[in-house]
Amino acid sequence: MTTRTAVAIYARISQDRTGEELGVKRQLDDCRAEAQRRGWQVADEYVDDDISAYSGKQRPQYERMLTDIAEGRRDGVIVWHMDRLHRRPVELERFVDTCTAAGVRDVVTLSGDVDLVHGDGLLMARLLAAVAANESDSKRRRGARKALEIAQSGRPAMGGPRPFGFQDDRVSHHPTEAPIIAELAARALAGETLTSLASWLQETGVKTVAGREWRTNTLRTQLTSPRMWGMRVHQGQIIGPAQWEPIITSEQGERLRRLLLDPARRTNRSARRYLLSGLLVCGKCGNRMHSAPRYDTRRYGCRTGPDFGGCGGVYIYAEMLEQFITEAVLLRLDSPAMDQALTEDGIDHDQLRALADTIDTQKRRLDDLATMWADGEISKEEWRTARNRIEGKLKDARSQFDRLNRRDAVTEYIGQGQQLQEVWKSLNLSRQVAIVKAVLNSVTILPATHLGRHGLDHDRVVPDWRQ
Ligand SMILES: [Zn+2]
Repeated sequence: MTTRTAVAIYARISQDRTGEELGVKRQLDDCRAEAQRRGWQVADEYVDDDISAYSGKQRPQYERMLTDIAEGRRDGVIVWHMDRLHRRPVELERFVDTCTAAGVRDVVTLSGDVDLVHGDGLLMARLLAAVAANESDSKRRRGARKALEIAQSGRPAMGGPRPFGFQDDRVSHHPTEAPIIAELAARALAGETLTSLASWLQETGVKTVAGREWRTNTLRTQLTSPRMWGMRVHQGQIIGPAQWEPIITSEQGERLRRLLLDPARRTNRSARRYLLSGLLVCGKCGNRMHSAPRYDTRRYGCRTGPDFGGCGGVYIYAEMLEQFITEAVLLRLDSPAMDQALTEDGIDHDQLRALADTIDTQKRRLDDLATMWADGEISKEEWRTARNRIEGKLKDARSQFDRLNRRDAVTEYIGQGQQLQEVWKSLNLSRQVAIVKAVLNSVTILPATHLGRHGLDHDRVVPDWRQ
């Protein structure tokens, strides 16, 4: 029997074997007795508490033990059973690699020694890890079955934030929120728009459960949730009546769903093409402008209301503005300024290649580093520091590469303005948008100085070209 002078003992509580769980104290006692029987000296005991190894959460003591092994401070490991060490085969591989690299061959479990160097022991360890992984899977399956049982009984799901309108038990009505739901439902059914209702909530200071302002989409979700009329939903399906009292009637609920979820009603005119969406800025307040059709006329506007938050002071007709901007964009593509802007900024293909090389090199260095750590050449702390430094460089190189690459895409259109003009109408919207965005950062629209929808006042349009 070999003499060992710096042995590690590892113990862990796992939650999933209620009843037959061995307390940590018992695990430690057994391991200490085993060390004594063998005449081994224990250098340190590592105990992780209450964290399932399968959940992927860090086990700080296990990590500390691995570091000590990697750095040559331990010459043996005693653990009560292999499944205290690992739940997933991939963890076992890492453990075996670390031990092998550090020359630690004595890993003892109370159900039998595991010789990591010779085949049988390793095979045995792998089998045990596979069995442990399987147990965790069935634990998850049990969890899913339990959740379905709860749903079928009509009891509430308890994860996440409580639903608006209910108290923390998710069954009792909330004294102020439940009446608000009832009022919202009645007003929506009477024909009031979600925009108007969201404004009302914002003005009266009613917030969502998360403390945020109501938007039309959160309001739509709220008013169409079957929970509000006492139905239990499980994984997106109504599976039966719930144990709580409804806030609105099921008849109201069904009508709200037809009213608010009907796809025909939800496709509004903004589904029609708005070339300059996201590009226009209000010259009065600086907010983004949105599509703001009036009757059959397409317009962009600085929209007020809960979803937009603009000033409402600037509107412009879409048709002539889009024509004007498109012409300007295509002219710009053929202009010497564009050519110059690009060459000055340097679409440098050598630079692109150099960046690609840097990215490859840094990725390789990350791999090397991981190997060095696994081989015990560097400590976990050193590994972390170096990794952060390399990842920083990698991020810089990647974003520079992306930036250059995007510019590169623009060159495709340079000098093509004339030809694009001829085919413009046949291009699909996303291609048109891509071309416009290639040369244009944004366009500020100044307020109208005189009324009238005939003609476009070019002085109102202030483009910000990409440089
Ligand atoms: Zn505005």
